[in-house]
Amino acid sequence: MKTAVIGAGIAGLAAAVRLAVAGHTVDVYEAAAGPGGKLSQFSLPGGYRFDFGPSLFTMPQYVDELFALAGEDPRDHFNYVLLEEVCRYWWPDGTRFQAPAATADLVREAANTFDVSEDRMRDFMSAAARKYELTGRTFLEKSLHRLDTWLDPQVAYAMLKIPGLDLFRSMHEVHAEALGDPRLVQLFDRFATYNGSNPYKAPGLLSMIPHFEHHFGAYLPTGGMYDITQGIYDLGRRLGVRFHFNQRVDRINRAGSRVQGIRVGATDLDYDAVVCNMDVWLAYDRLLAGAKRPEKTLRQQKSSSAVIFYWGLDRAFHELGLHNIFFSRDYATEFGRLEAGNLADDVTIYVNVSSKLVLEDAPPGHENWFVMVNAPAHAGQDWDQMTAELRPRVVAALEKHLDPGPSTHWLEHHIRAERIVRPPDIERLTGSHQGALYGSSSNNRMAAFLRHPNFSRDIEGLYFLGGSVHPGGGVPLCLLSARIVADLVAKS
Ligand code: FAD
Repeated sequence: MKTAVIGAGIAGLAAAVRLAVAGHTVDVYEAAAGPGGKLSQFSLPGGYRFDFGPSLFTMPQYVDELFALAGEDPRDHFNYVLLEEVCRYWWPDGTRFQAPAATADLVREAANTFDVSEDRMRDFMSAAARKYELTGRTFLEKSLHRLDTWLDPQVAYAMLKIPGLDLFRSMHEVHAEALGDPRLVQLFDRFATYNGSNPYKAPGLLSMIPHFEHHFGAYLPTGGMYDITQGIYDLGRRLGVRFHFNQRVDRINRAGSRVQGIRVGATDLDYDAVVCNMDVWLAYDRLLAGAKRPEKTLRQQKSSSAVIFYWGLDRAFHELGLHNIFFSRDYATEFGRLEAGNLADDVTIYVNVSSKLVLEDAPPGHENWFVMVNAPAHAGQDWDQMTAELRPRVVAALEKHLDPGPSTHWLEHHIRAERIVRPPDIERLTGSHQGALYGSSSNNRMAAFLRHPNFSRDIEGLYFLGGSVHPGGGVPLCLLSARIVADLVAKS
């Protein structure tokens, strides 16, 4: 079978590998000059390397299984380290917390730092584990849009348990009741941003997200996040997948209700199946003119986007870890502003420093900072103005946390290289509608069911995967979408 994959994002790469293993002849067409999409990399002058997007890696087994499928030992090609500390948190009142990875350590350290008992923390983490065990396999690893999924007894059991899954309360409400201390509530509310959602709207079911990090672990590939892209891309090449870079697909060709192939420039190319890793909204808009549009699905609120400052710094900061969060004073206001399409005056700042573990990412004694602020999806805002106002606020907030002494503007003097990426840049560079980081948001309780299926209901032989469709955004879920698509193709 001849299959075309549109887009070499992480899901497109994983699907190409799976289909090649299943015996397909696979061509991947990618508009950019190289693979990875949001998981690409770049360098800044002075010897600083950066991963463009993702910095947190969970569920590495979904990468490993691609090598195993191909009969290879993943350790020969792709390696990663388990983090002992997952994140350093900083609050405006001076509270600091270094979150250990293991659940038992997290429970103990949280009880030592916050106004919460070990029992309360343990109960909260157990509830997160239960939610994952009940729903994870059902809602993440299968297509929600096929009858055989709903005939599975495990799915029926999960449905019976729905009342206990906190679908009808927000994450914030669940956290406030379970944990009490507002700092700890803010810490766990932050996990809503792992799929670009708002903790005041996202269902409490998502309070299972910390379970991924603290039970299954947080990791970093030994050469940085881009190793994931490089590893799967190289594997695809070894399996005979043909990659066509700088080749933008302009149309998905159909013959009646069956897919016929794709058009690239002026050339029509025939394929038996087409697997689309392009953002699904843009795919309907640009590649499927005249096709029936699933309007309700396409109208779902987009996930948040981001303003990112990539800084090469000429000194090291020992108080920082690999992942660091500097919280705003008022999270509710911050998310309220995002909902209104704006940035808050006082923003939460995420700083990732991959050179803490990947020493080649910055010259000795220097650091590479990925400084990210959550931003609304791009809807025509004046990003030049918003970013110009945001940058000094971010610098000032970091200066205050890192050196509360009298001197100001000291951090600015250490920034030796800089790149700034705003939501319209993310849209342009990664083909993501409105610059959304994770496709559609999970800001309502039906969100899981309203993501686009992994196949077309109207065009036989057309499949969808990646962060904008089921099961959602983030590297692990994108890899699962590739697994679901490969299963669907095999059954077709
Ligand atoms: P994408 O990365 O969206 O790539 C799609 C590809 O398709 C692109 O390369 C594009 O050029 C190509 N394409 C589009 N249209 C066409 C066309 N017509 N023809 C040919 N090619 C086309 N996830 C995590 O797990 N952890 C994190 O810490 C994390 N942080 C993030 C931070 C940022 C700043 C961003 C942007 C994302 C982050 N994510 C994170 C989300 C994660 O990066 C994405 O969910 C995931 O990488 C999306 O992969 P994808 O397979 O959907 O493809």
